[in-house]
Amino acid sequence: MKILVADDDDASRTLMELMVSRMGYEVTSVRDGLEALDALLSPGRPHLALLDWLMPGMEGPEICRRVREAALEPYPYLVLVTSKRAREDLVAGLDAGADDYLTKPFDAAELEGRIRAGRRVARMSEELVAARERLRDLALHDVLTGILNRRAVSEHLERELSRARRESGPLAVVMVDLDHFKRVNDAHGHAAGDEVLREAARRLGATLRGSDAVGRFGGEEFLVVLPGATVAGAHESAERLRLAVSAQPVQAGKAAVEVTCSLGVAGWRAPRQDVDGLLAAADSALYRAKELGRNRVECAPPPDQGSEEASLPER
Ligand code: GH3
Ligand code: MG
Ligand code: MG
Repeated sequence: MKILVADDDDASRTLMELMVSRMGYEVTSVRDGLEALDALLSPGRPHLALLDWLMPGMEGPEICRRVREAALEPYPYLVLVTSKRAREDLVAGLDAGADDYLTKPFDAAELEGRIRAGRRVARMSEELVAARERLRDLALHDVLTGILNRRAVSEHLERELSRARRESGPLAVVMVDLDHFKRVNDAHGHAAGDEVLREAARRLGATLRGSDAVGRFGGEEFLVVLPGATVAGAHESAERLRLAVSAQPVQAGKAAVEVTCSLGVAGWRAPRQDVDGLLAAADSALYRAKELGRNRVECAPPPDQGSEEASLPER
């Protein structure tokens, strides 16, 4: 745990530094309130701070106020150190956002006790943040392949479509479905099928560029979102994806499994076309790729120019 000691008084700062480092904590110290605030707002910030009430630059309670305003996570534990004994002052310090206070002159046992109390809170906050991030990660990713799950990739597409609308820019999607995947399971077993899915997802992901996204849309079906891509560009990307998936057999246990996929491309063209319409277009292109023999890319035709959808302006 990292602890910050902020005190302009050399004697009391040195004493606190000594006590804190004797407890085995990593300690940094400053003698100015603004430096203390900087340290508390920096990325490698301390978990706990001992803040003198009266300091040049900025006073302890104001530092507490600013730090609380920043709503940092994990939560930094703030202890005000003061020679003020007046009750109102302590209450004002706590109201400013301090978690605890120490009155000078303090003894080592009290300082250590306050730090241990602070460590419990700081730890709890860290664990809470980590748990929430794990949950978030679980909620967004597919367990088998580790790529985005259906909900996450759909939400990503919703956001990208809104942006394309706002900026009147292009956007395309590719629906990818592994060919005769049932046969993989039948011939090599479900575990081998899982391995093929994982490797196919990895190959798709490795082929994409920075702003592109891929998610597992269904069993052996993947959705690729290509922001800024025209249909022609997306067609090229889809060709690359197709070649990447089938480049070499997937090693699944003892078996080397040949794998190919079919891809349906649809570009977003009409202002009123929504996510469902776009996905339906990609789906029917995919269906055509299957019908025409699999292991190929098909593009959805542009919407009929005379249709209501194509000609209506966006409202
Ligand atoms: P097509 O070329 O027409 O797409 O044929 P297909 O066999 O790939 O399509 P179909 O939809 O008939 O079968 C998909 C198979 O994918 C059936 C299902 O058992 C399998 N599958 C779906 N999810 C998983 C999974 O998580 N793991 C494994 N091992 N298999 C899965
Ligand atoms: Mg399939
Ligand atoms: Mg399928």
